[in-house]
Amino acid sequence: MKKELSDMYFLGRKCIICNRYGLYKLKNRRRVKCKHCKKYYSLKRLRRDLDILYYFYLEVSARKTAKEMELDYGVVHRRFMEFRKLIANYCNEQAIRLNGKIELDETYFGGKRKGKRGRGSKNKAIAFGILERKGKVYTVIIENVSAETLMREIQNKTRKGSVFYTDGFKSYASLRQYGKHDTIDYDYSYVKGKTHINGIEGFWSYSKERFHKYHGINKKNYPLYLKEMEFRFNNRKENVLKLLVDICIRRRRISAKLH
Ligand SMILES: [Zn+2]
Repeated sequence: MKKELSDMYFLGRKCIICNRYGLYKLKNRRRVKCKHCKKYYSLKRLRRDLDILYYFYLEVSARKTAKEMELDYGVVHRRFMEFRKLIANYCNEQAIRLNGKIELDETYFGGKRKGKRGRGSKNKAIAFGILERKGKVYTVIIENVSAETLMREIQNKTRKGSVFYTDGFKSYASLRQYGKHDTIDYDYSYVKGKTHINGIEGFWSYSKERFHKYHGINKKNYPLYLKEMEFRFNNRKENVLKLLVDICIRRRRISAKLH
């Protein structure tokens, strides 16, 4: 695994930051410096970071990664959370606006009891999702499921004139101001022609399955975990590893004073 990534990025020869050839060893031999961008860093650390990132890419837990790499769990966990922060920043920079056929739905993460909407949800995180069919998803952790909260997200993240599919929840009642609105009547039939929200529901169950493996996520961290899921989903047709190296290694080293 190590070799695969080292070869891919010509470690030691090509600069990880500016992607040009021109690295030379500094006197103490522990670091290399790039003659183009003038950045310097330790190759040993870079290799370790790339290895940690590779496990992250494979969706191996921090605990298992620590074991495999013979590292302290805390070190790997902190690095994973840092990756998630960088990914969330990247997602938030994308400024996506979804359009066409759009599914909307909210769900709860964490907590064991299945409460009614807005009730008994103190220890749970509420997520709201907007999914463009055959396209991207936008997710956000929200404070409540009021019409005001949901409409604000819809206004910011979708194009007017879209077709919205939701269930019969009352907070969606005023959706017509933004486009066509089709509701699903669960009592009548689960899937009524094109009126369904299978896409966003599938995304939620996939996320929940993943989160379950982490054996409890701190409520305050759900926004970061959820953005990671959004990122993976939205880039499912891309080279995710390459993107992750750009976001979590290259950009991190450009912005921070890390060597
Ligand atoms: Zn460089």
